[in-house]
Amino acid sequence: MSGVWVVIEHRRGEIREISYEMLGKGRMVAEKLNQELSAVILSSDARAFSEKIKKYAPQVFTIEDKQLENYNALSYQAALSALAIEKAPSLLLMGHTSYGMELAPRLSAGLKWPLATDCIEVEVTDGSIEAIRKLYSDKVNARIGFRGAKNALVTVRPGSFPAEIEAAYDGEIINVPSPLTAEIQARKFIEFVEAAAGEVDITRADILVSVGRGIGDAENIPLAEALAQALGATLSCSRPVVDKKWLPKERQVGTSGKTVKPKVYIALGISGAFQHVAGMKNSGTIIAVNKDPKAPIFNVAQYGIVDDLFKVLPALTEKAKALRT
Ligand SMILES: Cc1cc2nc3c(=O)[nH]c(=O)nc-3n(C[C@H](O)[C@H](O)[C@H](O)COP(=O)(O)OP(=O)(O)OC[C@H]3O[C@@H](n4cnc5c(N)ncnc54)[C@H](O)[C@@H]3O)c2cc1C
Repeated sequence: MSGVWVVIEHRRGEIREISYEMLGKGRMVAEKLNQELSAVILSSDARAFSEKIKKYAPQVFTIEDKQLENYNALSYQAALSALAIEKAPSLLLMGHTSYGMELAPRLSAGLKWPLATDCIEVEVTDGSIEAIRKLYSDKVNARIGFRGAKNALVTVRPGSFPAEIEAAYDGEIINVPSPLTAEIQARKFIEFVEAAAGEVDITRADILVSVGRGIGDAENIPLAEALAQALGATLSCSRPVVDKKWLPKERQVGTSGKTVKPKVYIALGISGAFQHVAGMKNSGTIIAVNKDPKAPIFNVAQYGIVDDLFKVLPALTEKAKALRT
């Protein structure tokens, strides 16, 4: 058997964005390998998901079981391994998310299939699958091959590929009987705990003025607040700003913070680490101010100012105020 599989990630009834990102890349890899793309849905009620997903893959495997309602490494591993052993796909893609980070190594060890984690690219070279991952704090790209392996696992860094928007298929849905017999006792889902919502919901803002470590100190935050006020914007930030307690956690944008999609995102003194970019890359217009012309934030920004933010901020605030009056 062969094929490229994408494990669909869902939480609380919603398919997560990473699933569509992997479906897009999975389709390209499958075409190059001349193999079929399949999506795999594990759930207690897969129908709602499979009706959506079948537009993005010619084949959708579903395994339904009460024990698969919420992510649980033990039940997910047991269900996925059984199907993977039977069908032996060439490549199994999962998100490098809290879900895939735990599940993929368990699967890899159990199946004895090689695994490349946190990959930003998946390619086919001379008929062989290769993955690219970053090393040394994202300074070096490493190309990973799976020499001699018939099957491989890859986890994909969120935000690495555009989400698949082309609903090109009317995929066949194949319901696979659940292999889970006994109830898994060792680990149980108890409840989903929503992060406490603070006074400010940055995910609803039209304009975000976002500060990074480059703001230097808590006492400089009012400078950014003044710009936010002049623009009718909300203040958000990168993770170090929260770690240093300059702003509360509810303002954090990124993989361990919030995903935002404002019309305008102004990044001040933010380098553009992937964990930050993953949370803001879909903003309408991104404007970055950074004194380092090589800062990765400029790769996603439509407008960039290479300068000291302490020079730029007051000038922008004055301009915004003048435009309002
Ligand atoms: C598991 C995990 C989860 C993470 N989750 C998140 C997350 O959700 N959100 C997040 O943001 N990060 C997250 N991070 C951290 C992330 O890897 C980066 O460390 C972080 O985004 C860097 O924040 P920064 O850009 O503010 O700081 P830095 O990387 O230190 O960048 C500061 C930037 O400011 C510029 N600068 C400095 N002074 C000035 C000045 N005077 N004028 C103009 N520019 C100036 C510098 O050139 C630099 O580019 C996570 C990391 C891990 C490991």
